[in-house]
Amino acid sequence: MHQQFIDLLAVLEASGKSYNIAKITEAYEFAALLHCDQVRKSGESYICHPIAVAEIVVGLGLDTDAVCAALLHDTIEDCGDAVDIPTIKKKFGEDVANLVDGVTKLIRIQFIDTEEQQIENLRKMFLAMSKDIRVIFIKLCDRLHNMRTLDAKPEPKRRITALETMQVFAPLAHRLGVQTIKQELETLSLFYLDPIGYAEIRSHVETRYGRDIDFLQRVQQDIENKLRESGHEFEIDGRVKSTYSIYKKVFEQGKRFDEVYDFFALRIITETEADCYIILGIMHEMFKSVPGKFKDYISTPKPNMYRSIHTTVIGRDGVPIELQIRTHEMHNIADYGVAAHWKYKTGANAQQDIDQKLSWIAKLIEEDESTRDHDEYLSTLKIDIFHDETFVFTPKGDVVTLPYGSTLIDFAYAIHSEVGNKMTGAKINGAIAPIDSVPVNGQIVEILTSKSAKGPSRDWLKIVKTSEARSKIRQWYKKEKRTENITVGRGEVEKELKKYGKILTEEQRNSIIASVASRLCIASADDLLNMIGYSGISMQKVILRLTDEVTKIVKSEEIPETLLVEDVVVKPAKKSSGRGVIIDELDGCDVKFSKCCNPLPGDSILGFITKGHGISVHKKDCPNVIDIVTRDEYRERFVTAKWESNEGSKTNTFEAFIQILAENTLTLIADITTNLANMNVSLHQINTQTKSSSTIVVNIVVGCKNTDHYRSILARLKSLPNILEVSRGFS
Ligand code: MN
Repeated sequence: MHQQFIDLLAVLEASGKSYNIAKITEAYEFAALLHCDQVRKSGESYICHPIAVAEIVVGLGLDTDAVCAALLHDTIEDCGDAVDIPTIKKKFGEDVANLVDGVTKLIRIQFIDTEEQQIENLRKMFLAMSKDIRVIFIKLCDRLHNMRTLDAKPEPKRRITALETMQVFAPLAHRLGVQTIKQELETLSLFYLDPIGYAEIRSHVETRYGRDIDFLQRVQQDIENKLRESGHEFEIDGRVKSTYSIYKKVFEQGKRFDEVYDFFALRIITETEADCYIILGIMHEMFKSVPGKFKDYISTPKPNMYRSIHTTVIGRDGVPIELQIRTHEMHNIADYGVAAHWKYKTGANAQQDIDQKLSWIAKLIEEDESTRDHDEYLSTLKIDIFHDETFVFTPKGDVVTLPYGSTLIDFAYAIHSEVGNKMTGAKINGAIAPIDSVPVNGQIVEILTSKSAKGPSRDWLKIVKTSEARSKIRQWYKKEKRTENITVGRGEVEKELKKYGKILTEEQRNSIIASVASRLCIASADDLLNMIGYSGISMQKVILRLTDEVTKIVKSEEIPETLLVEDVVVKPAKKSSGRGVIIDELDGCDVKFSKCCNPLPGDSILGFITKGHGISVHKKDCPNVIDIVTRDEYRERFVTAKWESNEGSKTNTFEAFIQILAENTLTLIADITTNLANMNVSLHQINTQTKSSSTIVVNIVVGCKNTDHYRSILARLKSLPNILEVSRGFS
């Protein structure tokens, strides 16, 4: 048995916890056997490393299984095929196997020096992969021992490892609240990353410490005397700020060395929270405090659970000194963070307690502590914050964060829309996988592309999870496939139209689509069909308008039936209304022609009994009529109406509206007016609207006898040069 393991057994013994020594010994023997022919760079036998890691793990207070896993942590990765997870499970149980598996997966993550955002993603991935928090603690202990023995490695390897430690592991330790590990990792990393800066800080610290040590001891003595008088239980010890935090203040924040106020700190550790505040009062009586340097992390803990009172006071010699006042429990948490719960609690509750903290930690990693409102965040604790995210690697080692449940297609579009559009297949961890596969944390995903790829399939829209991918696929269709989209869009619309159980002519269908397009403010029917084709508009929106339009058609065709045959009693006309219209039943009533549709003799008409204004006569296909004719409350107010037989042959008394779309030429208005004059048609009104740079709309009102007369006027106007369209306009 290796001497170092014998030492570990002594540490286990001294820890005061009940470890399963037999199981730990078995794990050691198994690991020793597997590593027996391996030697570390330093020359010592490999097993020294896992034993050292296990010892640090014990220092954090972790349990038997974690100690076994620490001893076994490098066996899977470093011992070839000699051992696998099932074997470990059989020998040491599921718990140990899962821990070893977890640590092995973390070992396999390649950290590459990248941008801050990537580093943050790495930290998150790291945590997301460590389903059991003990995994991350074992990994931190592994890294700490590697840092302690980094000297044995060649220079380039030292730099990479130190950088990784500074960027990923020290922040993790910090956020887990394990200050002891965090500070050691930072100091060791700094030593390798900036040996000159490190030496400079160390020499300052030693000089200043040497200069002020007497003072510091005197202050400590004064405080001890005072507190003893007051009768409070307390412990006190002094410390010098960590090398790296001084380094940061001096080199990163540009402070002068003597501006570092919290260079010295005295810690006063007492029993209860109330004692902390009483002691604070005593300290402020004894010393002058530095304004703005008081911080109460007891009432407002730091996100990593750190609690303490900080105040900076000026000693008699004018040297600032930081006082930290806290309880024993707060002190333990300050040193060990979450691990304090293993270290200082025992029994069944300990694990449960730790589980509760896990969600907490996930949250810690997720957010920057400076932007978080502590109270709010405590109240929104969730069981597992990372359930809604998946972290996967590109082949180059970049981490891509995807919403949970995302497919490989989502991944491809997350990389770049061109990668998605040219995608022909995909690989997960080097093996071909279906493109609708859902990758899991830590997998390496590679997208296979081809220049001749046909582009995304429409089915992908139903597969993808992210709106980003969906919108990129739509963009592609919008751009690349207009003709196809229109065909697809038309198919969709016609499928819908069939559902109304009404046989529509092609003309009707086209007019429906055009109306729907214009109601949706879409430039043309084809544009609408194109949008439907690439899913650029929700079918729900379209269907709503389709229903309206189909209903209109159905209603307009219902009118003659309902009015003439079923509902309205037709009586022979008795008397002319005096306006050329015969209204059934009603004698001598006031008749007027509606301004909404301007009926002409020859048009199919009906009458509507207005309230107090006689009867208004409308064309049967007037939009206003169609709108209300089938509503029960109005039905009784419609009456049949027809033209007197000879009406419309005598005078041009009826006003007719004509809308003309024409090319805008100098002689256009003259052409129209002279032609009307030649036909003996009186012109009542004319106005124009410019439609585009070259076209114009001319609205005219003319005196007209009847529909035949009207048609002849339209025909004449249509025959004129430059006139594009002539229609019966409503005012
Ligand atoms: Mn290791």
